[in-house]
Amino acid sequence: MAAPFVSAAPCVPAGPSASAFSAWSALRGVERLSLCDWPGKTCAVLFFGGCNLRCPHCHNAGIAWTPERHPELFAPDVRKLLSVRSKWLDGIVVSGGEPTLVPDLADFLAFLRGYGLPVKLDTNGSRPEVVAELLAAGLVDAVSVDVKAPFAKYSAATGERLDPVAAQACLTRVFALAVAHPGRFFFRTTATPQVGPRDLDAIRALLPDRHVLTVQPYVQTSEEGSHATADTQTRRTRGDLVARTDRPGDPEGAQGQRSERPDPGQAAGRQG
Ligand code: SF4
Repeated sequence: MAAPFVSAAPCVPAGPSASAFSAWSALRGVERLSLCDWPGKTCAVLFFGGCNLRCPHCHNAGIAWTPERHPELFAPDVRKLLSVRSKWLDGIVVSGGEPTLVPDLADFLAFLRGYGLPVKLDTNGSRPEVVAELLAAGLVDAVSVDVKAPFAKYSAATGERLDPVAAQACLTRVFALAVAHPGRFFFRTTATPQVGPRDLDAIRALLPDRHVLTVQPYVQTSEEGSHATADTQTRRTRGDLVARTDRPGDPEGAQGQRSERPDPGQAAGRQG
């Protein structure tokens, strides 16, 4: 994984800050530009640490399971990055880990609205009540849901964290949300060795009408035993998780000269 960017000192003028939100302290990674995380859109991806599941094929196990071992990002750096990039991005993706575990995620998403970009939420589907609240509040424009396996295989697929009954209850509600919000939900499954073609067909049969299942290929990593690593077409490489913005001369970093949209924190007059 690339060296995380953690500045010793603020690289934007003191004053406006998003530090009022504890969500910032849960951020563990940023991808500046992704072409595969939101179909049809160029986007930046923000990764929150922490997850309530323990999927054996987890591609972000480090930040998902032991976020305390990974440094917090410096919030003004992230905001600077988003301000610069917002001119040509189509959207922002909030991912993880499991972002619905972040206590003040709604406040964080409301802050992101200030960049004037649509926002997509990535979730494992285990907290549909949070997804429902965010949709009702108009804080997310799209939702990607990982459907891990047919319900009967959910315990094994989630490291015994979500049993078949709980999985069915959660995903039934997620599917209802997808019906209630047409065109906003994406569903995907990683084709691990435990999830074969018949399982994929079974998952497809669960989805609401007019929704397709995106199947992500599984690639074993040599570094983390059973954890999957990235596929170059559909999943990010591990080293892309955290981007530096404080490099001297980096046109998008602290020394950058490009103009950018106003930082929502500045617009809101927050102090940091
Ligand atoms: S839900 Fe996602 S982040 Fe959490 S353990 Fe499973 S694959 Fe990893």
